[in-house]
Amino acid sequence: LLAARGISVRFGRLNVLVDLDLTVYRGELLGIIGPNGAGKSTLLSVLGGTTSPQDGRIVLDGVDITSRRSSWRSRQGIATSYQIPRPFLGMTVYENALVAARFAGNLRGREAQQSAVEAISLANLEQFADVQAKDLRLLDRKRLEVARALASKPRLLLLDEIAGGLTESEVPELLALVRGVLDAGVTVVWIEHVVHALLSVATRMICLTYGSILAEGDPHDVMESPAVRQVYLGIEPDD
Ligand code: ATP
Ligand code: MG
Repeated sequence: LLAARGISVRFGRLNVLVDLDLTVYRGELLGIIGPNGAGKSTLLSVLGGTTSPQDGRIVLDGVDITSRRSSWRSRQGIATSYQIPRPFLGMTVYENALVAARFAGNLRGREAQQSAVEAISLANLEQFADVQAKDLRLLDRKRLEVARALASKPRLLLLDEIAGGLTESEVPELLALVRGVLDAGVTVVWIEHVVHALLSVATRMICLTYGSILAEGDPHDVMESPAVRQVYLGIEPDD
């Protein structure tokens, strides 16, 4: 679905991504883990188009989109959800989804309305459709964040640490939502600190350190690999 080749990002003298190659296959849930500062969020923003790499190319379904900005990419089906949900607080859940369908998804009229309704349903937010975003608890704001991304009818959904700040009992609800997204045919790349959450849904996993891929493959194999264990040494096994 998407290929990133030879991606390098530098901030001043800091090499954040180093000649990185990444392929995202249609229908997969690619989990990306790695220590603080490894470059995970930067990688996601390069895919989403909010950061321009100094080197490298990004190809979406055979089309080179390297020079395309995030607004163009969202209309072509790349959507992003962040750890800190940023809905329009004074708008209802439905209005938020509708705005995303129109502006991020470039949908019009009934098609936009329908997409908003479907996204809300997939995110399990029907009962809150007319509730203002500011009145939602954190878990439901995260659901809304995902619903907004879905309303734009993405081919590829990028998730940056969306489990952050949730309680142990809330994480499974978020996992169920992401599974539903995958079942609906959306390809997902999910960066997460809560590694055990990712392990249960990822179909493939990458561990990033110092802007390079340290290990890649079956999620459990990646977690068991000596190099990755070394990185997570001293950190709680389930953290
Ligand atoms: P975390 O787990 O803490 O979210 P991360 O793997 O997402 O970390 P990034 O946010 O991609 O890491 O940051 C990688 C490095 O790049 C860090 O050292 C960070 O300070 C630096 N960095 C990120 N964005 C910028 C920027 N806009 N300008 C300068 N340095 C930046
Ligand atoms: Mg990050």
